Amino acid sequence: MEALLRDGLSQLGLPLDAIPAFLKYGELLLETNRVLNLTAITEPDEVARLHFLDCAALLTLERFQGKSVVDVGTGAGFPGLPLKIVEPSISLTLLDAQQKRVRFLESVCSALNLSGVKCFHGRAEELARQEDLREQFDFAVSRAVADLRVLCELCLPFVKTGGLFLAMKSVSCQQELLEARSAVRQLGGVLEDTRDYQIPGSDVVHRVLLIRKLAPMPDAFPRPFARIKKRPL
Ligand code: SAH
Repeated sequence: MEALLRDGLSQLGLPLDAIPAFLKYGELLLETNRVLNLTAITEPDEVARLHFLDCAALLTLERFQGKSVVDVGTGAGFPGLPLKIVEPSISLTLLDAQQKRVRFLESVCSALNLSGVKCFHGRAEELARQEDLREQFDFAVSRAVADLRVLCELCLPFVKTGGLFLAMKSVSCQQELLEARSAVRQLGGVLEDTRDYQIPGSDVVHRVLLIRKLAPMPDAFPRPFARIKKRPL
């Protein structure tokens, strides 16, 4: 894992001083994964590529320094924790609906001595009604949580007007994007850019959709999850 991280971070032009923290995080992830279902990826080099480097690559697409970032449906910490490990000036909020995952995140933060990370257990569509979370973030990020039009309703309510939602998707998300056009518009957003990147040490290409939030969130959103699912925007 260490050699892969060294080569991968160098290739991305990111600092190598994050490596010890990644090694510890990888160890905790694989060890805890034996008793809690956290990830389907169980091979250390694959963890390095498909979790750590995939997520760290976001840092090459936007300026994250000093930004407040919320990771919606973070699971075992992706993409939020790799971003924070490489760019400690981020103030990070991690949200997940599963309590056991949030407990794992808290234990990783304390083992890695990370400061400036808050972890919340709850559903995004409910947490987005909390004053201290609604429209408070420069960036929202999310990977592998929901179809884009559902995801926009879960993520954009956290973003300040003028802020950005970075949705990590595969390169085959064209249809999903078309279907989400109306949702993006109704939620005050606009698709600003689409960026592809190759995960170092692999031939996997992923796509990030950059959605700019241009207007304040209408009070009606986000709706209860049953409504979001039944009538996606
Ligand atoms: N982002 C991580 C995890 C993906 S699995 C990764 O890329 O590895 C999806 C995660 O989203 C799960 O942990 C699930 O609990 C969480 N999730 C799904 N819907 C959610 C919601 N409405 N609010 C908060 N978390 C949610």
